[in-house]
Amino acid sequence: MKPKKYTCEGCPGLCCSDLEESITKPRTIDDWDNLKWELHFSNTKAFIRNRRWYKLTLGTCIYLDENKRCTIYERRPQVCRDHNPPGCEFYGSIYDTIFETPEQLDAYIKKEKRKRKNKKRKSVSS
Ligand code: SF4
Ligand code: SF4
Repeated sequence: MKPKKYTCEGCPGLCCSDLEESITKPRTIDDWDNLKWELHFSNTKAFIRNRRWYKLTLGTCIYLDENKRCTIYERRPQVCRDHNPPGCEFYGSIYDTIFETPEQLDAYIKKEKRKRKNKKRKSVSS
């Protein structure tokens, strides 16, 4: 059987919208507070994929036309050339956990704290 061919056919240019930027996992109280503040803005989200952290800025590339085609295809940046199906958002989720609001990040911080506490407790009792 021939392997399935993955193409961009039918995709509304998902990778040309919403700028994904790798960030360092927040560590200090200030880091968490900063990220929380960024999530106050309706165009900003954060997510985790394979344990790596990313910031997502909603918007569309200025070179995407109304037919969802790249108008500078021949001179598009390398990052666009390297982004191909099926390893892209059209063929699956790009995140494991997403934070759309400060409250969601707060809930994650609390959950992580609880997990750490339980781990500590277990290691002390064993
Ligand atoms: S690489 Fe993926 S997300 Fe980007 S246009 Fe093609 S199918 Fe859509
Ligand atoms: S330069 Fe072209 S391929 Fe790259 S994000 Fe913009 S529209 Fe998409």
